[in-house]
Amino acid sequence: MSDAWPTPPEGLCTLPAVIETEVAILGAGIHGAALARELTLRGVACALVDKGEVGGGTSQWSSQLLHGGIRYMLTGDITQMREGLIERATWARIAPRRCRWEAFWMPHRFLVEGLAHRFGIGLYDHWGADRPGWPPELKLGRVPRATFEADPRAVGGPFRGATAYADLMTWDRELTKDLAASSGAVLLDVHEPETFEDAGGNLTTLHLRDRRDGTLRRLKAQRWVFALGPWTDKAMARWFGETRKRLRLSSGIHLWFDAVAGCERPWAIRRPKGRILFVIPRDGLLQVGTTEREVEEGWVPIVEAEREELFQALEANLPAIPWRRLPVRSEELGVRPLVASSGDTTHLSREAVLERHGRFQNLSLVLGGKLTTARALMDRLATELTGRPCAASKTEPLRLWDGQNPEIR
Ligand SMILES: Cc1cc2nc3c(=O)[nH]c(=O)nc-3n(C[C@H](O)[C@H](O)[C@H](O)COP(=O)(O)OP(=O)(O)OC[C@H]3O[C@@H](n4cnc5c(N)ncnc54)[C@H](O)[C@@H]3O)c2cc1C
Repeated sequence: MSDAWPTPPEGLCTLPAVIETEVAILGAGIHGAALARELTLRGVACALVDKGEVGGGTSQWSSQLLHGGIRYMLTGDITQMREGLIERATWARIAPRRCRWEAFWMPHRFLVEGLAHRFGIGLYDHWGADRPGWPPELKLGRVPRATFEADPRAVGGPFRGATAYADLMTWDRELTKDLAASSGAVLLDVHEPETFEDAGGNLTTLHLRDRRDGTLRRLKAQRWVFALGPWTDKAMARWFGETRKRLRLSSGIHLWFDAVAGCERPWAIRRPKGRILFVIPRDGLLQVGTTEREVEEGWVPIVEAEREELFQALEANLPAIPWRRLPVRSEELGVRPLVASSGDTTHLSREAVLERHGRFQNLSLVLGGKLTTARALMDRLATELTGRPCAASKTEPLRLWDGQNPEIR
């Protein structure tokens, strides 16, 4: 399953054999799609190329949170957390239809732990006080005892109470498609990049093959950006013979169970090593995740040990629910692209790096990153590429790819 790209959908591409543009973006995940919107907002022509479909990579397998990252409260990465909290508010403004505020409960085992949570969460919600569209019926802070005890997850387990904090849920693939739809990019999805031409230390032309019917096309551009997520190292090796590992990859799985009566609010349970076990009711199901396993590929299957780890964590923390008897409606595995450094992947930063390529002066690479910070990062990159900042990036509502009116809330 090392190159298991999904079978291309039906349909024909009517684009010409030669396409010229100012900026060519390879990879139509959240980063590539966000960059296409940024360039369009600045009046710059671009093309968005993907071997698969828009949002068909990691950006459809996340935990779907636009968040400061409550776990950073535990790991002490406060700068990253505060950046995420600012960006969370921006998403709520520009993509209200793809965002839903929630009061997440963090349960505690002992009084002292409860007090520590209340302090940390108090700061998190203070720094994240900008919450456009927050529904007043969602309550934050100490969860009343009776409300806590009415939740089946509180029964028979190690927890004595909970503190509620605010975060934003999204629909990751939809958000990515909205970003692409909010751009004027020429879309070359389901196109396999084959070879490049270069001149004078610059990339000039990409030869592509339409995976639906084999048609060959050529893309010419002045600037190039690769936003290939976990497939970056593999692509750089194949296209340019580069062996340097820029990324380390970490898989994470989610299981989707049938909804469980009484589980109304999402839970975020602290686990060892600063990790969080999410149990989130959404879309009529209960989403549970996630794990961390270092992997070598962008496409890897779920291994039994990952599934088992989640089941054991659920049983240890929430024993009243018969997890193994609940039908698993679906399961998914995503691969996090993490900027390479030493240490285990749990402790690797989720921060992103923009690399200017050493050999091709007109090529930039997007490495690492998160959904939450993708807009801000691509705003920065677009400003670097064009020399033009763009205030509208933070305020211009996204166009919905499925054609609904973005003005209607
Ligand atoms: C389990 C898990 C949970 C996560 N939870 C969160 C969360 O709650 N909040 C958050 O902010 N972030 C979260 N993340 C991180 C976030 O999902 C990723 O950082 C983000 O989606 C990466 O986006 P990307 O655009 O860089 O990569 P991708 O979405 O993977 O996009 C890369 C694109 O490149 C294309 N591609 C690959 N190879 C080629 C090629 N040779 N030619 C052309 N195209 C190619 C792929 O098809 C793909 O569409 C999570 C990640 C995982 C794995």
